[in-house]
Amino acid sequence: MLHLYNTLSRNKEEFKPIKGKKVGLYTCGPTVYNFAHIGNLRTYIFEDLLRRTLEKNGYVVNHVMNITDVGHLTDDADAGEDKMEAGAKREKKTVWEIADEYTKAFQDNMADLNLHTPDIWCKATDHIQEQIDLVKQIETNGYAYVTSDGVYFDSVKFKDYGKMAKLDIAGLQEGARIDKGEKKNSTDFALWKFSPKDEQRQMEWDSPWGKGFPGWHLECSAMSMKYLGDHFDIHCGGIDHIPVHHTNEIAQNEAAVGKKTVNYWLHGEFLLTNDDRMGKSKGNFLTLQALKEKGYDPLAYRYFAVSSHYRSKLNFTFEALDGAVTALNKLRHLMTIWDESTEQDEAIMEKFMMTMNDDLDTPKAVAIMWDMTKLENIDPGKKLATLLEMDLVLGLGLQSWFDIEETQQAEVPPDITELVQARETARAAKEWNLADELREKISQQGYEIEDTTDGSRIYKA
Ligand code: AMP
Ligand code: ZN
Repeated sequence: MLHLYNTLSRNKEEFKPIKGKKVGLYTCGPTVYNFAHIGNLRTYIFEDLLRRTLEKNGYVVNHVMNITDVGHLTDDADAGEDKMEAGAKREKKTVWEIADEYTKAFQDNMADLNLHTPDIWCKATDHIQEQIDLVKQIETNGYAYVTSDGVYFDSVKFKDYGKMAKLDIAGLQEGARIDKGEKKNSTDFALWKFSPKDEQRQMEWDSPWGKGFPGWHLECSAMSMKYLGDHFDIHCGGIDHIPVHHTNEIAQNEAAVGKKTVNYWLHGEFLLTNDDRMGKSKGNFLTLQALKEKGYDPLAYRYFAVSSHYRSKLNFTFEALDGAVTALNKLRHLMTIWDESTEQDEAIMEKFMMTMNDDLDTPKAVAIMWDMTKLENIDPGKKLATLLEMDLVLGLGLQSWFDIEETQQAEVPPDITELVQARETARAAKEWNLADELREKISQQGYEIEDTTDGSRIYKA
């Protein structure tokens, strides 16, 4: 039985899907004005673990992820510049160019981290009509008003506003009296913003209210309901989305369709550096590319992320990442020793899944995995099969690594294999000098030998 922590109730709840074995999952995607940082990627790793856990439980997941390519302003209070337009200026390119480039970079990050591709990718700019239609619906139901710079959502009219985030609405209104401009209430937010009169935006569209662009929260409401229906199972994001983005999505959805639209809201905690949130605007961020340039395998970053629970803060350090590299290499090494996979150990696998099903308790699941590797009373083939089965959920890419390794083994040319065998014979006869000479010869031809308890393993250097 799968239990997930639902931000709506602040409790772990038994997961009950709406439609049998089908699960609708919406995860807020990147704003493509810059590279994702490894903090953002931590959130996507958590969502991938969720998806894999659902699938291991037999659910068929329909996963939708958006690409924010318009409307996300530098300021949460609907002021400031559009991040996309600012990014384009910074790079002296068009918004469309940077959107394409950073979408591609993000998809490369996903592949490097072994994240499943969503079933549906959707871009905000491809869904302008759906967003306009949603604003019309919200307006018809009496929750929208127009000011000189846009169409706004009346958060005070919507009586459950801020419920998930447990916002102190009265306090917020009191505290922000001065900044709200033409907004009726400080928690009101833009559904549609008008293009500035003195500046030509690169992205703008006609609407019944005037030329402009959609508010950031609108795209996720419009696209999640378009692809998953007006009542779906799970919606995820990072915890920073609780008080604003997801609060506003809930308000828009429910104002438009008049009922609850999402059953489970799941949120991942922050990645920190020096105990401070990693953030693009803070300038303290690292990209996956930067880690790769330092020689790190992206899957070691995934291992690092997986070893902590998604609802705990995680502080990034290179020492911790080095620890993850060692652990991942050890797993890979064990696989080469165990070599031939047989059937998995059902009892251990069951224990592992019970742990994952307890709100994705990956630190415990990883501990179960390591305990299994150390057991002496089960045969190596079984260990290998169990490890690979666990990895369907943890997603460390062990099967692919193993397959590549096997292929490389198979591709060792015959003259090298002969040298390896000659060296084995020399070692067996304790002719250490000859063995060393042979190793040197092998290494000169670009191959390395690793001596294991099961004999020598050869690989391309
Ligand atoms: P953005 O591209 O800014 O919309 O963010 C993409 C995702 O990363 C969102 O789900 C955010 O909540 C999440 N996020 C932002 N900063 C962090 C962080 N330091 N650690 C983990 N997740 C984060
Ligand atoms: Zn979103």
